[in-house]
Amino acid sequence: MIKTRIAPSPTGDPHVGTIYQALFNRVFAHQNNGKFILRIEDTDRTRFNPESQRRLLEMLDWVGLPADESPTVGGPAGSYIQTERVANHQKYAAQMLEAGTAYRAFDTSAELEERRKIAEAAKASYRGYDRRDRDLSKAESDDQAANGEPFVIRIKAPLEGEVIVQDRLRGAVTFKATELDDKVLLKADGFPTYHLAAMSDDHDMGVTHVIRAEEWLTSTPIHKLIIQAMGWQEPEWIHTPLLRNPDKSKLSKRKSNTSVESYKDMGITPEALVNYLGMMAFSMPDGRELFNFTDLLEHFTWERVSLGGPVFDIGKLTWLNGRYIREVLTLEDVVVRAKPYLEQAGYDLSDTAKLTRVIDALRPRFDTFSEVAEKASYFYQDIVLEDKAKAKLEEGRGHLASLLPLLEPVAWTWDVIEPIIKGYAENAGAKLGAVMQPIRAALTGKLESPGMGELLEALGKELCLTRIKNAV
Ligand code: GLU
Repeated sequence: MIKTRIAPSPTGDPHVGTIYQALFNRVFAHQNNGKFILRIEDTDRTRFNPESQRRLLEMLDWVGLPADESPTVGGPAGSYIQTERVANHQKYAAQMLEAGTAYRAFDTSAELEERRKIAEAAKASYRGYDRRDRDLSKAESDDQAANGEPFVIRIKAPLEGEVIVQDRLRGAVTFKATELDDKVLLKADGFPTYHLAAMSDDHDMGVTHVIRAEEWLTSTPIHKLIIQAMGWQEPEWIHTPLLRNPDKSKLSKRKSNTSVESYKDMGITPEALVNYLGMMAFSMPDGRELFNFTDLLEHFTWERVSLGGPVFDIGKLTWLNGRYIREVLTLEDVVVRAKPYLEQAGYDLSDTAKLTRVIDALRPRFDTFSEVAEKASYFYQDIVLEDKAKAKLEEGRGHLASLLPLLEPVAWTWDVIEPIIKGYAENAGAKLGAVMQPIRAALTGKLESPGMGELLEALGKELCLTRIKNAV
């Protein structure tokens, strides 16, 4: 069975890059009746953040990309939390030691640091670990360990030749032995490093396809060496292009907003976020821009993934979200999603018919739900008269005074009101705008708003007449 996985480290805010990886991994697994696994890689205890795991799982649910096997849903290959699997990692490290594909290195961190400084002072580039203990005899190594000298276990990377990684998107990628380092597999405290832990867990969980970001490609030769040393089945490697900041550097929170939660807070819909991430490096065969996970299941292929660095542009995401609000979601849906933002602003939403009219009127005018409270303010709060609107209102106060008695008796629908306003303007010899703008200013405090008909109907007769009276 095809099994894919994401293996995030719970170190900070849930990152859009993780959702991006989840999307590829889940689509590919589900296209092949496989399983998509979530494993938490929490072995780096210095950067561990206990809240991070829960928040990440929450965000995967929010975007609709939950894993089939994970710490919360469980599965046949549990535990899905890496620190609970450390005994396995230690067992594999011991096996590699025994087989001579790995060795104990007794250097202390202070010694390593000193050697790095000497290399730097000599202006020689630091070439990684100098492999000092690689050729200790078994007896020597066992003795030193038995004497209680602390050690790490390092892989014996080849000293010559090359390691070739076959990547689905990139073809054969060659790494010269001279570029490889004898990476640490097990640290002095008995904890595994990422390399050993990830490959052990991938093996034990039956992962068949390692789909992950390009930044891990340089670790892959080491991963392949671990797999070979253990005699495991090599997975297929698929390194997807990195998301980038608009300046093309690797997407980073310093230059862009990378927190999934913050997109949720700003009122980006999860459907739009998934759609936007789906547009990063992939395009639909028919070129359509609006698509969902089900469409991806039908049409996604690795052949349509391009390696040019996709730019994660918040402006475009916002634009796409606006299209979801206007073209994809139903009005009822938009109302439901806007409601918490309006509640938060303290508006009285007890009149549900009014709420629907307001959202219907505003729908063309906002791209994220966080904008909606401000846009809807004059429907629920006293108007705040902007300067330009004030000037218009003063110019047109006479028109408002004359219109008022004409509007008071009529039914409050635009097809009734429109001819009254038009007829009045004609009789008064005024331009239509000279009448409409003061009305708009009186009703909203602004000069921009939805169309007059939508505005009047959404506000309702009573409020409209009160505001016009106040203006007069
Ligand atoms: N723990 C790594 C991360 O934080 C996993 C990398 C991989 O997919 O192998 O992304």
